[in-house]
Amino acid sequence: MWSGLRNTVRWGAACLIAPTRLPRWYAGRRRLGGRWGLILRYHRVIPADEPLALYRIGIGADLFKTQVAWLASRYRIVSLQEFLWWLETEKTPTTDLAVLTFDDGYTDNLTEAVPVLQSHGLTAAFYISAAGLDDAMPYWPEILGKALELTEAQTIAPDPAHEWNTGWAIRTRQERARACLQMIARIRKLPAARIAEAMESTLEALGVERERALAASPRVLADHQVRTLAAAGFTIGSHTVSHPYLPAEDEDRQRSEIVESRRRLEQVVGGPVLDFCYPGGGYTAVTRRLVSAAGYRSATTTDAGVAGAGDDPFLLPRLGIGQALASNPIGRFSPVLLETEISGLFTAARRRLQAPPVRA
Ligand SMILES: [Zn+2]
Repeated sequence: MWSGLRNTVRWGAACLIAPTRLPRWYAGRRRLGGRWGLILRYHRVIPADEPLALYRIGIGADLFKTQVAWLASRYRIVSLQEFLWWLETEKTPTTDLAVLTFDDGYTDNLTEAVPVLQSHGLTAAFYISAAGLDDAMPYWPEILGKALELTEAQTIAPDPAHEWNTGWAIRTRQERARACLQMIARIRKLPAARIAEAMESTLEALGVERERALAASPRVLADHQVRTLAAAGFTIGSHTVSHPYLPAEDEDRQRSEIVESRRRLEQVVGGPVLDFCYPGGGYTAVTRRLVSAAGYRSATTTDAGVAGAGDDPFLLPRLGIGQALASNPIGRFSPVLLETEISGLFTAARRRLQAPPVRA
């Protein structure tokens, strides 16, 4: 409910300030300051006929279609390679550039997003976790979401042995949705081995067999599908092997996730894989160094912002696009809201509000 309210407030604020042309003025000011590069971060593009799931990470296909048409009419959408060239030359392009990126490699990227992109002649980058190439295995939050939909349990008992499990009532769909999001937020930054343990104990508590939850979850792209994307000219980037939160892992494990995924993806696409994306936006100075040492040319984060002059190509900021980000309270695309978000005005206002008070 609170996130719904927050999104409505953002949309309302955008509608109020749009006629003042403040977002356009702010975007111009940002460009003069050398920030001209938007890297948009998508996840799933959800087919219109898919039943509404408890856990959804992405935007509806119809919304995506309208959004892309708008973006293509306003920005020069370029490949990651061209974007990096501009970054390196330290020149400012005459118009803002945008790069479209998709994390996690869901199959709907190929079936829903790619036809829309191709109809506009646009390119994009897809970040793939190599573990899914062989078995198209869904990510653990998807399995958790499905298990919470399928279970007949009414509660999850607190478990003193696992501090993240403070217990949840899961009688209604709303309670289940809340439990799902809270659980994911509490365990997602744990080491992969502990996430696996948490999943096992939760599935047991829910009385749902892993295979059953898995069968109902959205799949990721298998190797031949990633090859199809690469052959169509899209950029394939690495999103590690198993999508761990890298700062929670030791240096050797981080290195093998970063190096092995590149090796495996290069085998699949038959060419160099040069771009990396930190799973869950998690990185440290060590992670950054390992990515650079592994021979990549760039890495994207989930840090909000607009890229430009002087940026570290291994710590590129992005603007995350979720269902709520650019839609009005009834779920329709709101160009006014997207324009205000892209201008950087909201990010700047949020930073200012969060900044500690300055003492005179
Ligand atoms: Zn991811």
